[in-house]
Amino acid sequence: TRIPVVAGNWKMNFDHLEATYFVQKLAWTLRDAHFGFRHCEVTLMPPFTSIRSVQVLIEADRLKLTYGAQAVSVTNQGAFTGDVSADMLAKLGCTYVLVGHSERRKYHPEDDANIVDQVRAVLAAGMKPILCVGESFEERRQGIELEFAVGQVQDVIRDLSDKEAEQMLIAYEPVWAIGTGMVATPQSAQQAAAAIRSHLTDVYGDSVAQRVRILYGGSVNSSNATQLMMEGKDIDGFLVGGASLDAEEFATIARLT
Ligand code: 13P
Repeated sequence: TRIPVVAGNWKMNFDHLEATYFVQKLAWTLRDAHFGFRHCEVTLMPPFTSIRSVQVLIEADRLKLTYGAQAVSVTNQGAFTGDVSADMLAKLGCTYVLVGHSERRKYHPEDDANIVDQVRAVLAAGMKPILCVGESFEERRQGIELEFAVGQVQDVIRDLSDKEAEQMLIAYEPVWAIGTGMVATPQSAQQAAAAIRSHLTDVYGDSVAQRVRILYGGSVNSSNATQLMMEGKDIDGFLVGGASLDAEEFATIARLT
């Protein structure tokens, strides 16, 4: 049985003061009796500059939250101005690192080779990569969305050992659904998650494939989370953008997951 995860990708939002305020509000909301028993893992992906504040607060208040980063360098140290290494993130207590988010693929020169190296760097530092894949509107129009998303997974995981593959999470995030309010239907989200899991079965066998958590992302909110979970037996939670910036909305999504 896979423990579902709800991950809040803050993107470039919340400086360290806003982050502190948000985490306090989120913790308070999750503790509220109304939200009751928490059966899923709630994780936050702040910008680099807010990670330390989030860490300090979580440790001081012993909050049941985990956190991670949105990107990572492929190298471990040296003359790489502006980059942040996997070891630095691991030392900050990060559990996860997003890899290959479509916004990174678009605005930064991240190709498959670079994404493979990021996955390796994250694994070598003892964290778990959340690999983001998903088709754009064009591939969907052509009806090749499943091949496309599975192909992206295949290109990145092909050289991983069973042990490494087990540490991966995969987020299916169709590009056309990100920040648009156009959520995938529960059927098509499930179909993509199932296709990805079946590829993992082909490559690594059933026991690894059954352990990998597959998330859906793209315009997830408190009104569509229930249906996506109910109809998505291969969907193990969500990668949430916009709706993760509102503590009550995000807590509600966690409650429904
Ligand atoms: P939205 O939830 O704002 O559509 O963003 C999804 C996303 O990109 C999460 O990584």
